[in-house]
Amino acid sequence: PNYTSVSDLSNMTNIKIEKLIRDLTKMGFTNVTHNYILSREYVELVLSSYNYKVEEQTSVLTPETVYDELKSPVNPKNLMKRPPIVTIMGHVDHGKTTILDYLRKSSIVSKEHGGITQHVGAFQVETPISKRRITFLDTPGHAAFLKMRERGATITDIVILVISAEDSLMPQTLEALKHARNSGNQMVVAITKIDRFSNPKQREAAIEKVNLDMMNHEIPIERIGGDVQVVPISARTGENMELLEESIVLLSDVMDLKAETGAQATLEGYILESEMKKTTGNVSTILITKGELRKGKVLICGNTYCKVRSIKNENGQEVAKATPAQAVEITGWKDLPGAGDEVIEVKNEATAKKYVAKRVALIQTLKESENVDRLNEERATKV
Ligand code: GDP
Ligand code: MG
Repeated sequence: PNYTSVSDLSNMTNIKIEKLIRDLTKMGFTNVTHNYILSREYVELVLSSYNYKVEEQTSVLTPETVYDELKSPVNPKNLMKRPPIVTIMGHVDHGKTTILDYLRKSSIVSKEHGGITQHVGAFQVETPISKRRITFLDTPGHAAFLKMRERGATITDIVILVISAEDSLMPQTLEALKHARNSGNQMVVAITKIDRFSNPKQREAAIEKVNLDMMNHEIPIERIGGDVQVVPISARTGENMELLEESIVLLSDVMDLKAETGAQATLEGYILESEMKKTTGNVSTILITKGELRKGKVLICGNTYCKVRSIKNENGQEVAKATPAQAVEITGWKDLPGAGDEVIEVKNEATAKKYVAKRVALIQTLKESENVDRLNEERATKV
């Protein structure tokens, strides 16, 4: 931990509290009591005087990690193939929303104000030829995703980089490219708006220009022996959209994406969105990454928990269960969970309450230590 009270330190090390207080006082600490808070550096200093090694791997208990011990260890026997989780990135107006819209077969674009995607979530499609499922996340720039990324959780497997055949590579295309590279996502390129060229020669030339620009930016496309597939499409006419979907399936097979599935694995997931509804109370969309969600299960998230009352898929239909890479809407939360927060299954409500209390207490302690720190600093500057 970054802060430890003297009594906690005594508990952790089995060094008698009276001895700790005596020795700390000898070392120059003043007014040491059992509640005295020590920063990590001081703890290390004190412990080194006892030849006591602070092990680096002792996991730091933070509000983010306090539930980690609830997770079940990976059991290879439960690993099963799962759908890929895909986001679409690219320059503004190159057609991200139109592709999602085509895939979702509903009119998100027309409902939007100023073309900004309002709704956060995910949906699954079944591919037309291979009959496989793909999960699309629809707003990777949203706070939930930023929060997840900050914590190093990359839930996206594949990025579709959208490049308009009319514009070719633009500043945000390069941004997206950089992001995909940094986060280690695999990539498929969709050259879009090819319906804008009625003349086949002009169309070929436009597609060729995008290809050359990609090569100049060292995108390892298949043509130069790389593994990035390039699919010219029109999200307006639907031309080659099947091909795009099948390219993703192909790539996901190469990636061999798996997740622990079934009742034996402890459920894990992330909150994509969260909302208080007049009719149903607290509702959240959860993207499942492990295990199996069923009604009656108890989930913990942040300072709240949920006894799952209902599960609905993205079409608003009640479902009995949900599995990895699926996003579903659930009800039953005591308080609203935060977007981007991790969800973990617990045995029962009593366990949930116990762990929530533990987390709340930890946050309180951290706050107090910060205050103590500030007070100590103020006192030091006064002297
Ligand atoms: P986003 O900013 O990347 O989400 O781009 P949008 O999906 O909102 O698309 C921007 C504009 O391009 C809209 O007017 C779309 O109708 C249009 N558009 C998108 N894809 C295509 C396409 O394949 N063909 C044509 N002709 N227009 C498209
Ligand atoms: Mg858009």
